[in-house]
Amino acid sequence: MSDISIRKVGRIGRITLTRPQALNALSYDMCLQIEQALDGWLHDDGVETVLLDAEGDRAFCSGGDVAKLFHTGRAGDTGYAEQFWRDEYRLNAKIADYPKPFLSFIQGFCMGGGVGLGCHSSHRIVCESTQIAMPECGIGLIPDVGGTHVLAQAPGHLGEYLGLTGKRMGPGAAMFAGFADLFVPHALWPKLIEAIEKTGDFSLVVRNAKTPPANSLGAVMDEVNQHFSKGSLAEIFASLAASDTHFADETTKALTRNSPLSMACTLEAIRRLRGPDLTIRRALEMEFRFTSRAMAHSDFLEGVRATLIDKDRNPTWMHRINNVPAEDVEKMLAPLGERKLSFVEDGLKIAFIGLGNMGGPMAANLANAGYAVTGFDTQNVSIDGVTPAASAAEAAKGADVVITMLPNGQILRAVAGEVIPAMQKGAVLLDCSTVDVDSARAVADQAKAAGLLSLDAPVSGGVGGATGGTLTFMVGGSKPAFAKARPLFEIMGQKAVHCGEAGAGQSAKICNNMILGVTMIATCEAFALADKLGLSREAMFDVVSTSSGYSWSMNAYCPAPGVGPESPADRDYKPGFASELMLKDLGLSQMAAEAVDADTPMGQAALDLYRRFVEDEDGKGKDFSAMLPRFEKRGRG
Ligand code: NAD
Repeated sequence: MSDISIRKVGRIGRITLTRPQALNALSYDMCLQIEQALDGWLHDDGVETVLLDAEGDRAFCSGGDVAKLFHTGRAGDTGYAEQFWRDEYRLNAKIADYPKPFLSFIQGFCMGGGVGLGCHSSHRIVCESTQIAMPECGIGLIPDVGGTHVLAQAPGHLGEYLGLTGKRMGPGAAMFAGFADLFVPHALWPKLIEAIEKTGDFSLVVRNAKTPPANSLGAVMDEVNQHFSKGSLAEIFASLAASDTHFADETTKALTRNSPLSMACTLEAIRRLRGPDLTIRRALEMEFRFTSRAMAHSDFLEGVRATLIDKDRNPTWMHRINNVPAEDVEKMLAPLGERKLSFVEDGLKIAFIGLGNMGGPMAANLANAGYAVTGFDTQNVSIDGVTPAASAAEAAKGADVVITMLPNGQILRAVAGEVIPAMQKGAVLLDCSTVDVDSARAVADQAKAAGLLSLDAPVSGGVGGATGGTLTFMVGGSKPAFAKARPLFEIMGQKAVHCGEAGAGQSAKICNNMILGVTMIATCEAFALADKLGLSREAMFDVVSTSSGYSWSMNAYCPAPGVGPESPADRDYKPGFASELMLKDLGLSQMAAEAVDADTPMGQAALDLYRRFVEDEDGKGKDFSAMLPRFEKRGRG
């Protein structure tokens, strides 16, 4: 009998793990089959929802097929494991980003590879028997399959505790830690699944959800935070040793069983990942640094031997718990260079139209990441790694994603008119320029009529962000389009926020920049007033940057030379972000405000002032913070 059943039932794509005799352990072949099904259903209008479950009462999925990895590794073949992990992690990211509702019904054990399958989907359903854990440190690995993504977001220092100990979580605890969303009693599952199959209504899971049983972790959170906030594994261990509670005793025993190198690396990985830039891809990429080196340089083979092969439960670890050198952790988590886990979709073709100050470096970053990029610009620019095309239409032909980075909405509409007829159905038109909301929506309508997906995704971060790959994207458009473009956003930037339907990205951008224009003017006029009142600029900065007048304009981009962090003011107001670009964005916000009858007097005043500055004074070609020398020169008259 096959280990997995994949089928369509009604409007649902169904995946069932059918290997209960092996606790539904995930084999490489099962991974590949699931990925193939998800790829197929992505553009299949007959599949509205995906539902993943597993046969048997004991386990949803007890983990990856580690024994096979062990035997290949022992025989000197590290390539099999590396490829397995690469493909498995790619699947984990795909599940996390899947643009259709994805329901996972998790009963019994769900560990390791099972977490990667079940705990990243949009609706994670648990029941009375659910036991979720990331016990990898016990076999000399680190929590992987995207586990560190969940652990790094768990409340307080719970992620460190769960990652290092491998503690099992019942349904309430799993929901508290962020591994599950909904508790539905197991007795209701068969009828509920049948009803979802019949109606296609995935929201039935929400309506059938009940209050979960008590969360066992809530009561120990103070102790978790007390010990697991410590700086190193040795300090955590010492802190536990100094405490005589039941929790400290139990936790010490759990840590003593696990690989010290794995625990030290888990601690470091979770802490590096925690923060606003965390994405599942970044977590998987960090995990792969460890796992791809695990066969040769960690406790992995010894851990699997002691736990699953000889079952003596007496591993000889490479390090002692209170002495894992930082260099050994660094070696396991150092970037992999060319061997890095890449989410570049093989064969995905990108066209890039508009290779100016922003578009040039963005296209170069995509090419450097390994994508095939064809570019076009009316100025005949050449970018390393980007194949030049003779026209926008030629570049767009056969491309899976066409990116535009153009000066304004009028040019965008003209270019869209050229490229849309040349694009293949299902491809994505991704506009990153800053344009008016109407143009963004008109282009989206045109793309939709041609059977294309589209996104408006203006950026913030300037040329520095475009070059360094640290832009923020504000994105409008459908979920499937966003899911397809997401890996590209992560190469070109550090954050992409899906703001809503077509036009929402441009709306967010112009609202943000209206605030920026207004606060920059307010900051500059306050500095000019402070000058005349005899206040030093340092004093002004020190007070305002830590008082209620603080803003990005003051704190991160201070318009006064020699004060605060380095900014264009220190480079004689060479842009940075040019005044004429600010003028353009303020014009777009007023155009939008007029269209929807919004009262924006400060935005209008900022527009009038920047217009005067650029058109009648000496603001053109200067950074938008050059408002400060402008105010300095003037009195009230
Ligand atoms: P840019 O003028 O340097 O680049 C625009 C490029 O588009 C030019 O190389 C131009 O030759 C090309 N172009 C014009 N018409 C074309 C056509 N029909 N076909 C192909 N190429 C064409 O401008 P930029 O600074 O790169 O800005 C691009 C967009 O990004 C603008 O919408 C801008 O508002 C936005 N933006 C810029 C910054 C910034 O700091 N520069 C920051 C955020 C957003």
